[in-house]
Formats: sequence, C-alpha cells, structure tokens
Amino acid sequence: MKLDILVIAAHPDDAELGCSGTIAAQVAQGKKVGIVDLTQGQMGTRGTPELRIQEANEAAKILGLSARENLGFEDVFFKDDKAHQHELIKVIRKYQPEIVLANAISDRHPDHGKGASLATHACFMSGLRKIETELEGVTQDPWRPKYVYHYIQNNYIQPDFIFDISAYWDTKVASIMAFKSQFYDPNSQEPASFISSPEFLPFIESRAREFGHRILTQYGEGFTVERYIGVTDLFDLK
Ligand SMILES: [Zn+2]
Repeated sequence: MKLDILVIAAHPDDAELGCSGTIAAQVAQGKKVGIVDLTQGQMGTRGTPELRIQEANEAAKILGLSARENLGFEDVFFKDDKAHQHELIKVIRKYQPEIVLANAISDRHPDHGKGASLATHACFMSGLRKIETELEGVTQDPWRPKYVYHYIQNNYIQPDFIFDISAYWDTKVASIMAFKSQFYDPNSQEPASFISSPEFLPFIESRAREFGHRILTQYGEGFTVERYIGVTDLFDLK
C-alpha cells in the first residue's frame, strides 16, 4: 500500500508528541499517513512493550492512520548501521511515501537524534538501485522520498517552518492520552518518570501555543529541514 506520508519514530508516542496535529490535519485533507515505530520502548520506566503496542494501535485509530508497524529494534541500543538501515529501507520501499517525518535532529533522549540520522540515511539509501531488498520473497523497487522533515521533541529547536494545528489540538491530545501508561495518572502505582510528571502535558501545550503564537494562530507544531524550502508562489506562504 502506498502512503503519502510515513512518520518514523524511535519510540511509540514520539509521533504523537511531536507531530500528531500535523498527521491529523493531513489525514483530514485526504492524505494516507502511516507510522513506523523503531522500538517498542522496552526501556521505558512505565508500562510494558505489549501495553505500548496496544496503546499505539489505539492512537492509530484516533489519528486515522492507514498503517502502523513496529520494527522491534532494541530500545536505547539500536544503531544507525547497515543492519538497521536495511530493515528501515524495506519499510520505505514498501510504503513509497512522498514525505517522511522523522525524529528531532538532537534531543534529551539519545534515541531521538539517532532515529533522525537513521531515517535520513535510510531515505537516501532506499533510492539506490544497487541496495537490494526483498519483502515476503519479492524483490523491492528502489524508492527515495522527496522530502524529509524533522519534528521537534523535548528540547527547544528553532523551527524552519510551523504547521498550524489549531483545528486538531483536541485530536493531538486524545492521541497522546491513548498512551495511558506513560503520562500523569494520580492513581498509578508505577514509578514516576520524566514524562509522567504533572508538569509534562502543560509543557507540551505551552510548546504548541508558543509555536502557534509565532504564526498568529492558536497551536502549532514546528519542523526543521536539512535543506532550503523552495516556493513558486509567495501567496502560498502563511
Ligand atoms: Zn522517544
């Protein structure tokens, strides 16, 4: 199945926190969007891999995704190396996306920057004819996505552009809250973690409001680009 946009995320919930408003907006505009999670977040303080898969599937329904899969890479220890690039190339060739949204280029969690470089490298290499891959016994055609954009996660990064997600803020929150095991729950008996503190979700909201404010709207998500953005009509810019 061909997708318009493939989101690549180191952990289940990275896509929801970083770019689910943008996903919901593009799905509403008729685009086919899928997420590939690289790991099951096995090293996360709270929850279990099985629970996070369930939560990821619930979030997929809320966002109207056309596909979501998990590559089962080792959380924290996966590398941007040949074996992992090969597995990710297979997914890129399978879905043939025009656009890839990838992890933040650097962040508090080292998996995010590593996921970003793995995604960028795999997107380029996927276009090389001499890298041969097979899926279910069938040789895959090369495919290079046209554009890779990086969403912004925990650490503040100056965005290159901001997507207006005002109409999809509630959908974004619902998709984040699908990961019940991860976020603040006063009744939880599990150990506290960085993202389960009561301050975390207000921080996500203030980030979205800051980005929204910078484009004179209510909520926004920022992205960075590893190249320059070209335009052919100044009136397309908001
Ligand atoms: Zn993460």
